[in-house]
Order: sequence, then structure tokens, then C-alpha cells
Amino acid sequence: FPIEFEQALPILRSIEAAGFEAYFVGGSVRDTIMGRKIHDVDIATSAYPEEVKKIFNRTVDTGIQHGTVMVLDHGNGYEVTTFRTESTYQDYRRPDEVTFVRSLKEDLKRRDFTINALALSEDGQVTDLFSGLDDMEHKLIRAVGEAEERFNEDALRMMRAIRFSSQLDFDIEPATEDAIHGHAYLLEKIAIERIHEEFVKMMLGTRPNLGLEKMIETKLTDYVPGFKAEHLALKKLLALDLTPESEIEVWTIFAYVFGYNQSTTTKFMREWKSSNQLTEEVARATELLTKVTANKVDNLALYQAGEVAVIAADHVAQIFGLDVETKVLINQYSKLQIKSKKDLALSAKNLLMENVYQPGPELGKVLQYLEENVVNNNLNNTYDDLLASAKALKEEGSN
Ligand code: ATP
Ligand code: MG
Repeated sequence: FPIEFEQALPILRSIEAAGFEAYFVGGSVRDTIMGRKIHDVDIATSAYPEEVKKIFNRTVDTGIQHGTVMVLDHGNGYEVTTFRTESTYQDYRRPDEVTFVRSLKEDLKRRDFTINALALSEDGQVTDLFSGLDDMEHKLIRAVGEAEERFNEDALRMMRAIRFSSQLDFDIEPATEDAIHGHAYLLEKIAIERIHEEFVKMMLGTRPNLGLEKMIETKLTDYVPGFKAEHLALKKLLALDLTPESEIEVWTIFAYVFGYNQSTTTKFMREWKSSNQLTEEVARATELLTKVTANKVDNLALYQAGEVAVIAADHVAQIFGLDVETKVLINQYSKLQIKSKKDLALSAKNLLMENVYQPGPELGKVLQYLEENVVNNNLNNTYDDLLASAKALKEEGSN
């Protein structure tokens, strides 16, 4: 057992001591068997939520309507979820209602892929009802049961198949892949936020080229925002070695290859239900890349992009093989005298106290003038130099 499981063993044992079954399930079992690092330990049990709460002193109702109780133990939190079936599917989305059951088999049956339908007991036994271990060995993503039915129940599973394919470097088993092709249109029923999450995980996985290629082949790309009319651009991407290192880089890759400007990038990011912060960073990184292409990168361009976008643009420029050595943008950025207005050695308050300027629009203008000239290295960012420059500007203005 890896350390995360060792630490959680007392939880399984307490549940069993109370007369119920309990197992490790889901991604942590898959990742452990594959020798991958695990991030969260999920526990499934025959005990109902109220019964789980009686067994432990400290629990939090994190998702009790879905059967999940968080058990707190030695500073760790474990999601303990009652065995359940998801019988009523509406609109090809996750069901609103779940039914709690006492059978592990029923619980494993509702899971998406065979490699995700393994259970591990406290004594180290693996329950593998759908040949998940076999599929793991052959590096295959295979739907549990009838693939078409499973994608009809929950269309997000199609994106999950592709995400796991990229993360694990697995192929998608032919019948499962055919079913994705046949049901790609159902993706339109799924909340963009959820597609967004799977898509980013796919792009940040080990084989984003493989994932993207499968999305194109199965036509999933026709049912996500902004991709349908971009066949040539996507083809171009497949010829590159896509190695994004952050979510900002993922989206910058697409905004750049689609030839977007500030406003079209923003529109695209909004369609994908991105946060304002992410949207702005991507727009700035894309803008900077466009300037790299046009050979128009200067200090001001880097300053306006800001550190996060500069780092992203630097790496995405390498991915596209643009004419700029790696780290050049980052190095040039790091040499800027100031990174934001508040780094200026002279503030608005200083200007007022020195009696050079009165409050008003003129004050903002002179600060912007100083800011740009410090960024361009026409001025040293020292109090005296900036004050002298501000005074000179005032003189000029009054002549
Ligand atoms: P990750 O390593 O990204 O957490 P995971 O396999 O743990 O991968 P989760 O989204 O955390 O994925 O889900 C945990 C488990 O719940 C899955 O392994 C799978 O058994 C089940 N599951 C999750 N989403 C679905 C779904 N849409 N349909 C069926 N089963 C699902
Ligand atoms: Mg998980």
C-alpha cells in the first residue's frame, strides 16, 4: 500500500468493524496499480451516509445527497461514499437522483471505464468485475458495459475517455471509440464548465496530441466552442509537439493558432466559461505572441503582458517554433525596472507634496509618462530623476 492508503486503512477498518463493507475505489486504485502518484483517496461503502456519520466523530456533509460524507482523521479528509446506482438519467447529464445500494457490484457497474471500476479492500484484494486489470495491461480505455448506453446516460464520459487516454497514454478500445463518434453530438447537452475541466486535463496530460487527434477523429471538436470551423488550424497543431505546462498555455495555443486578437480571444474564453483572470492572462499572452510574430516585442509589450502571460508566451513561442530563443522573453521581462505602476519611485502623493502638480487629470498623465519612460529605460527609476523629469514636463506644458 502507498502511504496515502496506509493512512486511510483505519477508516476502512472502522467501517468494517461496524459491520459494513468498505473499499478504496476509483482513480486512486487505478493509479496505485499503475505505479502513478495518487492525489485523492476515495472510499466506497455499503454503509448509508447516516450510518457512516455514526461511526466517526468528525465528519462533514460535503455531498450527502449524493451519498458522500467527508471523514476527518489526523488532519486528512476522506470522501466516503455509499454504494449507489444512478438510475434516472435526464438530458444525457449526470443524474439528479441516486439510489443507495448495499452491493459493491452495483456501484462498480455505474462507473465509467473498466480501469476506474476497480475496488481494493483492506486486505489488499482487488475486485475486478469488468477486466479492468486486463485493459490496464493492454493500455485500453473501455466503457463498463455497453458504451453507447453509457454515453447516452452521461455524455461527459466521452470527454473523460479522451482525457484518460492522454493522461495515461492509453488507446480507446474500438467499440468505445466508435460509440464516441456516434454520440459526439450529445456533448452539446453538457455544461461547458465540465467539458472545460476535462479538456484542460487532456491537454496537460502526457499525450495531448493523441487526445486532440481523437477529439478530431470522433468529431467531438464539432461540439465544443470555437473548434468546428478550425480544421486547418487543428491540423497544424497536430504537426507540432504540444507540451503546454499550464492552463494559460493550453488556451493561448488555441487562441494563437486561430489567429485571435484581444477581443476574439476574450469572446472565445467566455464561451468556454473561463474565469476573468484566466481570460485576461490568455488574451495578454496571445497579444504578446502576435507581437513576437510581427517582430514588435519591446519593453512596453512585455510590461503590459505581465509576468504570468510572459512566461506562458515564452513557452508557447517555443511550441510554435517562433523566431525567439527560449527564455528570451522571460529574461527581458525580468530586467524591466518596474513591473507595475506601484514600483515607480515617485508616486502621485509625492508629486502633490512636492507641489509640482495639483490633483486632476494632468497628474495621471504625468505618471503614465513616467511609467512608460521608466519601462523603456529612458529614465532611471529613482525619486530624483523622476521628480526632475516631472518638473521638466510641467515646464514644457506651461510654455
Ligand atoms: P482523477 O485522477 O483525475 O481524480 P478519477 O478516476 O479519480 O481521476 P474522478 O473524477 O475523481 O476521476 O472520479 C472518481 C471515480 O468516480 C472514477 O474513477 C469513476 O469510477 C467514477 N466516475 C467519475 N465520473 C464519472 C462519470 N461521469 N460516470 C461514471 N463514473 C464516474
Ligand atoms: Mg479522483
